[in-house]
Amino acid sequence: MRTPMIAGNWKMNTTIPEAIALVKGMKDGLERVDKVEKVICPPFVSLSAVKQLVQGTSIKVGAQNMHFEIKGAFTGEVSPLMLAGVCDYVILGHSERRQYFGESDDIVNSKMKAAMGAGLIPIMCVGERLEENEAGKTVEVVTRQVKGGLADIDSPQGIVIAYEPVWAIGTGKAATSEEASATIGIIREVVAEIYDASAADGMRILYGGSMNAANVAELVQKPEIDGGLIGGASLKAAEFVSMVQQTAAVQK
Ligand code: PEP
Repeated sequence: MRTPMIAGNWKMNTTIPEAIALVKGMKDGLERVDKVEKVICPPFVSLSAVKQLVQGTSIKVGAQNMHFEIKGAFTGEVSPLMLAGVCDYVILGHSERRQYFGESDDIVNSKMKAAMGAGLIPIMCVGERLEENEAGKTVEVVTRQVKGGLADIDSPQGIVIAYEPVWAIGTGKAATSEEASATIGIIREVVAEIYDASAADGMRILYGGSMNAANVAELVQKPEIDGGLIGGASLKAAEFVSMVQQTAAVQK
């Protein structure tokens, strides 16, 4: 019912020539797979080049962040209007933004509204830190982040949520499919509480955190898990293509 998504977050990796080479290395393989929405999120400076390379294909492009203002005196920032036309998606509230750049739920919420106002589809990241997980606060944290990020957004149509436990990002220690599925189920209940059952049923909720070609099938076969937001493994063309292929092969 929900089209699975596999999105690659390249983070602060790849120069422009490296980004071009990486897209060239995965483009044909990705194009051969339908049934899965494929998104690549390179650094800002490579967005145009990547967009040109995937023009006319089914591969979508996303940004990794943006400011919530349309324009103005915000040196070094990139606005939703600048991304509209180049990107389909924008990752918002990634834990690295929250941790290193002080992004609060309020800021994420402002960015969500600005992105949607500019016609971009947000991939909103939520997830608990290790100490929060160990203190049994996972549900409390993701509930707060989901409610905060979606505050005053009347229609969640199209929004994608990525559940990314911070302790699983870049650590090689992915959540088990049971853990990820249980928390994503709770996130879906929170969405149903804010909106209604049909909004929750229609919303794609991804897992992210040390997902790779060896664990993707196990994770995405869970009915609640609608795909993945992939960091490290998205920088390897063959592995990323394999993850998309494996996701397409899962029957739910
Ligand atoms: C991410 O940064 O969104 C992520 C999931 O990273 P990794 O796959 O490297 O854990």
